[in-house]
Amino acid sequence: RYRMPRPLHRRVLTVANQKGGVGKTTSTVNIAAALAMHGVRTLVIDLDPQGNASTALGVEHRIGTPSVYELLLGEMDLREAAVPSTASPQLLCVPATIDLAGAEIELVSMVARENRLKQALSPEALTELDVDYVFIDCPPSLGLLTVNALVAASEVLIPIQCEYYALEGLGQLLSNIDLVRSHLNTSLHVSTILLTMYDGRTKLADQVTQEVRGHFGDTVLRTVIPRSVKVSEAPGYSQTVLAYDPGSRGAMSYVDAAREIAERGAGRVEAP
Ligand code: ADP
Ligand code: MG
Repeated sequence: RYRMPRPLHRRVLTVANQKGGVGKTTSTVNIAAALAMHGVRTLVIDLDPQGNASTALGVEHRIGTPSVYELLLGEMDLREAAVPSTASPQLLCVPATIDLAGAEIELVSMVARENRLKQALSPEALTELDVDYVFIDCPPSLGLLTVNALVAASEVLIPIQCEYYALEGLGQLLSNIDLVRSHLNTSLHVSTILLTMYDGRTKLADQVTQEVRGHFGDTVLRTVIPRSVKVSEAPGYSQTVLAYDPGSRGAMSYVDAAREIAERGAGRVEAP
């Protein structure tokens, strides 16, 4: 069975785009699951109060559940908040509860308000969990939660939906990333752009694909995620599409995307 190559150093990727519905959560959980199912230990941080990533990974996120909210407040450490997902024993998740909805405001008056998540994701804590990848699923805004995610990561993965206005708002995201890089986190860069919800029947999808590749070149993964009913059905069963329908085009394309990400950052390729 194919094993994804492990990175030389642990990789922390923030999945961001302030537009809602572009495939942030879907891409986070399915890429993370693909890595985990192919032997690479991975952690997903659900940073959206909606808790959609927690749901898709079959992780409890009722109010009162230990979550990313307690991590941000410094009331709990990573080991206590990270739980195994149902997607794979190699995949852990820190869930988000609705408590997180208040955090955007509560953080404003806190010390080191932009650094809270970074502090929680200390090298020691991540080493203890023994994870090679961390994916942070952002809410659809550029507020303090997303800033915390950008400070905690060194890579940004931007999902772009192959639709009208695909590039709208991207300038704002990129300039926020620049701001965070110059003031808070010099190692931050956009490492990966993923085209999602591609519909091969429309000319528009190809136009968007070409436009995005023209702008961003090799940062854009070769793999494009097709629009697929299976992908959208899976979360309703608290599953990733890899578990829900492993042979579907959606599942296979997420495995391909994960492999591309892993191979780009590979320290070494493990023997099969
Ligand atoms: P975001 O996290 O950016 O708000 P989601 O990942 O939640 O976006 O996706 C928005 C909606 O689109 C969800 O209902 C999801 O199931 C659906 N969706 C995402 N990717 C696909 C796809 N490739 N094909 C069909 N539906 C998709
Ligand atoms: Mg989401």
